[in-house]
Amino acid sequence: GTAQVGVTGLAVMGRNLARNLARHGHTVAVHNRTAARTRALVEGFGHEGAFVPARTAEEFVAALERPRRVLVMVRAGAPTDAVLDGLAPLLDEGDVVVDGGNAHFADTRRRERRLRERGVHFVGAGVSGGEEGALNGPSIMPGGSPEAWAALRPLLEDIAAKAADGAPCTAHIGPDGAGHFVKMVHNGIEYADMQLISEAHDLLRHVAGYEPARIAEVFRTWGTGRLDSYLIRITAEILAHADPVTGRPFVDVVADAAEQKGTGRWTVQTALDLGVPVSGIAEAVLARSLSGHTRLREASAGLPGPHRPPLAEEDAAYFADQIEQALYASKLVSYDQGWHMMRAASEEYGWGIDPGTVAAVWRGGCIIRAAFLDRVRAAFAADPALPTLLADEGFAGEVGEAQPAWRSAVAEAVRHGVPVPGLSAALASYDALRAGRLPAALVQAQRDYFGAHTYRRTDRAGVYHTLWGGDRSEVRAGS
Ligand code: NDP
Repeated sequence: GTAQVGVTGLAVMGRNLARNLARHGHTVAVHNRTAARTRALVEGFGHEGAFVPARTAEEFVAALERPRRVLVMVRAGAPTDAVLDGLAPLLDEGDVVVDGGNAHFADTRRRERRLRERGVHFVGAGVSGGEEGALNGPSIMPGGSPEAWAALRPLLEDIAAKAADGAPCTAHIGPDGAGHFVKMVHNGIEYADMQLISEAHDLLRHVAGYEPARIAEVFRTWGTGRLDSYLIRITAEILAHADPVTGRPFVDVVADAAEQKGTGRWTVQTALDLGVPVSGIAEAVLARSLSGHTRLREASAGLPGPHRPPLAEEDAAYFADQIEQALYASKLVSYDQGWHMMRAASEEYGWGIDPGTVAAVWRGGCIIRAAFLDRVRAAFAADPALPTLLADEGFAGEVGEAQPAWRSAVAEAVRHGVPVPGLSAALASYDALRAGRLPAALVQAQRDYFGAHTYRRTDRAGVYHTLWGGDRSEVRAGS
């Protein structure tokens, strides 16, 4: 074969990644279960580069130079297994198969083990940026063997987005499931960020009393500062958009029930299993869920609230600035929770994920791309063992300065009866982490009372139990 790389699965993502590869001068073998898609790709975009269309898996594999590099871009779940089962017998030792779909990292670990038995390198690669990113430069998070990374690196670096400093937004994340795990956390963080931004919008609307067009201006301004990010930019555009049908602000004609495809839920489920508190992501998932409970919402719509008028104009401007600070601090805390989760998984699975590398890869191409991620990269580069971004002097200073305004924004939201689960959960996380003592002491005492679950003491080593049902003397437990 003569093709340097093959793509199987030519729906929107696979087609655009194949075009991206071809536009960078690579000869790309292309294959799809339904041949019409292969034909459509070659007919529509054949002029963009060198494609080798294949009708069967055998033809596809035969078209590739060895060791083969195959990118599988099919629907996640059972279809991925079906395609891998079909390919595996046709491949040789040393070949590299990449799954660029949104696979669960546990599936990726299983697939990697099975293909490794045949001597085939299996790479689970998170790909972010949607169809536009796939065509013009996604963020790519590959997990697999170092040999597979060496084979893929030139291709992936060519097609990946480039950060402001020119570095490609891809890097070897770690072995087996590490890449898909990091992509999952990316999506979880994306949920949290979107929730925080929409809460900021809600406050500007209902507490500051601003109309969407004016809020668009506020977001545009914020987007030129430390909040500079793709999500802030698209938010400004959405808020400035008028519905062509009714002329009303577009955001007002969209039904307020947010859907989800499941990666946010995966993130929270996995975080619970790892014992890591990702409250920002969890609140975002729960808020989407609540928004869809129409009957519950209708039944609750008449419940009393505070009925406060919006703020006066001067107060509103001051409040808008407080929201910027609350949003920034909450964003930092929520992102930090994502890094905590990656650190925990990296230890659990022995992945050796470098936190700064993840930040670097997320600087471009992906949905959460933001100027701020370069500072996260720098913070972890200076100290890869940083237990929290808040231990970085620069970030700690910013959040310290923002915290009075953050509290005011959350308090004002509560006074006005505007729900801010994301902003307030982030603040609660900040306050809990910095607290000298937590009420967990009382919880542990309660556990000892009703379940003899024992406790440790602040003043002495050992594990203890109080005889609550007896004379309430203390006994040493265990030993
Ligand atoms: P879809 O998820 O809609 O999947 C359609 C593709 O899967 C088609 O090529 C289809 O072939 C193929 N397929 C489905 N079932 C089988 C099967 N049993 N055997 C062989 N092929 C099968 O396509 P997308 O392009 O949207 O996404 C591809 C992958 O990328 C998914 O895993 C998705 O989660 C992930 N992804 C998507 C993003 C997006 O923005 N859309 C972003 C990042 C990742 P056929 O034409 O024959 O039906």
